[in-house]
Amino acid sequence: MVIACASGKGGTGKTLLAVSLALACSASEQIVFVDADVEAPNAHIFLKPDIEEERVVEAFSPQIDEGKCDGCGECADFCYFSALTLVKGKVLFFPELCHSCGGCELVCPRGAIKEGAVEKGRTRKGVAREGIVFWEGRLKVGEPRAPAVITELKKAVKKEFPDTLTIVDCPPGASCALVEAVRDADFCILVTEPTPFGLSDLKAAFQAIQELGIPCGVVINKAGIGGGGILGFCEEKGIPILGEIPYRRSIAEKYARGLTLVDGEDNLKREVLAIYQALRRVTLKGAGS
Ligand code: SF4
Ligand code: SF4
Repeated sequence: MVIACASGKGGTGKTLLAVSLALACSASEQIVFVDADVEAPNAHIFLKPDIEEERVVEAFSPQIDEGKCDGCGECADFCYFSALTLVKGKVLFFPELCHSCGGCELVCPRGAIKEGAVEKGRTRKGVAREGIVFWEGRLKVGEPRAPAVITELKKAVKKEFPDTLTIVDCPPGASCALVEAVRDADFCILVTEPTPFGLSDLKAAFQAIQELGIPCGVVINKAGIGGGGILGFCEEKGIPILGEIPYRRSIAEKYARGLTLVDGEDNLKREVLAIYQALRRVTLKGAGS
C-alpha cells in the first residue's frame, strides 16, 4: 500500500505527520519512506538515514551538429517551450526552457540533433531509524522542473519494494510536482490547519487529488486554534477526518529540534497510530463498497 502525505502549502505539518507515521508503524511492519519533496527534502533531519546509494537522474538534452544543420527551423517550430530558436539560420538552444521531450530529435530532417543527457537531480537510498528503508530525491540547484526526479524516485522504489507499506512525503502546494508524487498512491492524507488559509489550501489540494481519482482523508494539525470551516468542507465533500494533532507549544519545540510526534516525553504515538487505523478502516470500507 502506498500512502501519500500532502498539504496545500508548506509548513502545515505534512512532513511531521509522515515521519511520525513511519516511525509509529515501523514497530509492527516494514516501512519504505519516500521524501518526494525534491525541491526541499527535509525528512532526513527526522529519520537520520545512513545513505548507502546515490543515483544521478538524467534527462534528454538535444545536441546539435552544426555541420549537418541546414537551418530549416523545423525543430524550433516544433518546440512548444521555445527552447530552440532560429536566429540568422543558426539554432540556439535554451536549456532552462527544455522539457526533455525528445521531439526535436524526431522532427529534424537532417539528423542534426542527437541525444545528449543533462543532470536533473539525484535519488538517494539508505536505512533510517527503526530500520525504515529511506529514499529521497534532490532536485539539482537551479533546475526548475521537479517531476523528472520524482518520476525516477518512484520508479526505483516501486521496482525494489512493490508490496511494502510505503509513505510518500509529497511536495507542498497543488502543482504538477504534487500530482507526480501522488499519482499511483492508494490513499492520500491531506494535512491541514483549522484556519481560513488552511481551508483555501485544502480545497486546492483536494481538487488535484480528486481529479486523479485517489481516495483521501484529512488530518487536522494544530487542532484547537480555530475552526476555519474545515469540518463543514469535509462534510460537504464526504472527506473522512482521520484524526487531529493538538496545538501545543511542545510539538513546535520538538519539530524545531528535529524530533517527531512519537519522540520524547510528550509522545503522541497512540494518536498517530489511531490516524493510521482510521485510514485502514476507510480504505477497507472503500474496497468493500
Ligand atoms: S527536447 Fe523537447 S522541449 Fe527540449 S528542445 Fe527538444 S523539442 Fe524542445
Ligand atoms: S530541424 Fe535539424 S536541420 Fe532543421 S534547424 Fe533544426 S537542427 Fe537544423
